[in-house]
Amino acid sequence: MISINEAIALIEQNKELTNSISLDIEKSLDYILAENIYCPINMPPFNQSAMDGFAINYNKNVSKYRIIGTLQAGKDPSTFQLKKGEAIRIFTGAAVPESCTSVIQQEWCDFNSKTLSFNKKIANNLNIRPSGEQLKKNMLVLEKGALICAPSIGLLAGIGISKIKVFEKPRIGIVITGDELVPLKSKLTPGKIFESNSYLLNAALNQYGYSSVTTYKVKDDFVATKNIVDKALSENSIVLVSGGISVGDYDYVYKAISEIGVNDVFYKINQKPGKPLYFGKLNTKAIFGLPGNPGSALTCFYIYVLPYLSQLNQRDSPIKKVSVCLEKEYTKKIGRGEFLKAVVSNGKAKICKDQNSSMLTAFIAANALLYIPGELETVGKERAVTAYLLL
Ligand code: AMP
Ligand code: MG
Repeated sequence: MISINEAIALIEQNKELTNSISLDIEKSLDYILAENIYCPINMPPFNQSAMDGFAINYNKNVSKYRIIGTLQAGKDPSTFQLKKGEAIRIFTGAAVPESCTSVIQQEWCDFNSKTLSFNKKIANNLNIRPSGEQLKKNMLVLEKGALICAPSIGLLAGIGISKIKVFEKPRIGIVITGDELVPLKSKLTPGKIFESNSYLLNAALNQYGYSSVTTYKVKDDFVATKNIVDKALSENSIVLVSGGISVGDYDYVYKAISEIGVNDVFYKINQKPGKPLYFGKLNTKAIFGLPGNPGSALTCFYIYVLPYLSQLNQRDSPIKKVSVCLEKEYTKKIGRGEFLKAVVSNGKAKICKDQNSSMLTAFIAANALLYIPGELETVGKERAVTAYLLL
C-alpha cells in the first residue's frame, strides 16, 4: 500500500499527451488551445465611431458646422473629405473618415438638415475608437494552453479566425459493476439500490469539459467483467471502473484487469476514503478502479482522476489547493491520510458532518476537500492544512 503523496506522484509520472486537432471555433468551447493565436488584423480594423451623432473636422474657432452628408455603419468612409467647418451625420460602428477628428454625440448637438452647433463644450478626439485599440495586428491574442470559453470564441470570430488547433479530448469509458444495482425508473426490490455512480461520474466529467463519455454496465461475474473492461479499453483512452476493486468474494475487477495485461501503477492507497483505488496503464491508455462507494469514488475522482485528465492537455488540475486552518481541533487515526469534506471561507475550514464514504450529502454542503496527512493524529486550530477547492 502506498501513501497519498506517492500515488499523486505516480499519476504525474505516468502522463500522456493527446494529439492536437483542427476545429471550427463554434465547436471549440471547453477545449484547450494547442497553438498561440496572433491577431491577423487590427481590432477594430478602422477608426470607428463610438456614438450616433456628428463627425466633424474639428477647429476650435468654428462654432457652427456645415453638414455635407451621412455615413452609415458599413459604408466606405473615403467618399468624404471634410474641410474646415464641415461635418457629417455618423452612426455607431461607422468608419470615421480621415478628415474627421472628433465625433460629437447627438445629445450634445443642435442641428437641422444643413447646420450643426453644440449645447455642450466640445473638443477634439472625442468618441472615436482608434484602429487597433483593442488588439493590434500580430499581437498574441490567446496563448497555447488557454481554455476556450465563450469570450474567446467571440474574440476569434471578431478577428476573422474560423478554425483553431486544440488538444483532442480523451474518450472516456465508465464501467459500472455490481449485482445490487438497478437502473433508474425500475422498481427497488429487496436488496437492490439505484445505480448512481454512472450519473455521478458522467456529471463530474461533464463539469470539467469531458463530454465524450460512454457508460458500460456489468454484473459481478469474472468473465463478463473481463470482457467489458477489455471492450471499454479498446474503445476509449481512459477507463473508470466503478466498484468491484475491493477484496470481497465478488470483486472481480483487479483479476480482470490483470488478465487483460494492464500494468499496475498502484493498487491501494493508505487513505480514507478510497483505500482500494487502482491505477494502471495499457500502453498509452489508463484505467482507474474506483471504489463503489459514491463518496469515495468522487473523492478519488477529484484527487487522482481529474489531475490525470488535465495533464493530457498540458493543464494543471482545475482544483486549486490553498492553505487553511481548522475551525475546531480534529483527531484521527495515525498513519492514514484523510480527505474531509469541508466548508472553507476566509482561510478557515469547517469540517462537514456525514463524512462516511457511502454518503454524498456532505459534498453538497462542502466547497473543499481537506487533506489531513497520515502522520498527524491531532490537528490543532493553528496547524495549516491543504484544502482542495471544489469549483
Ligand atoms: P464495491 O466497491 O463494489 O464493494 O461497492 C461498495 C459500495 O458502493 C456498496 O455499498 C455498493 O452497493 C455501492 N455501490 C457500488 N457501485 C455503485 C453504483 N454504481 N451506484 C451506487 N452505489 C454503488
Ligand atoms: Mg460491488
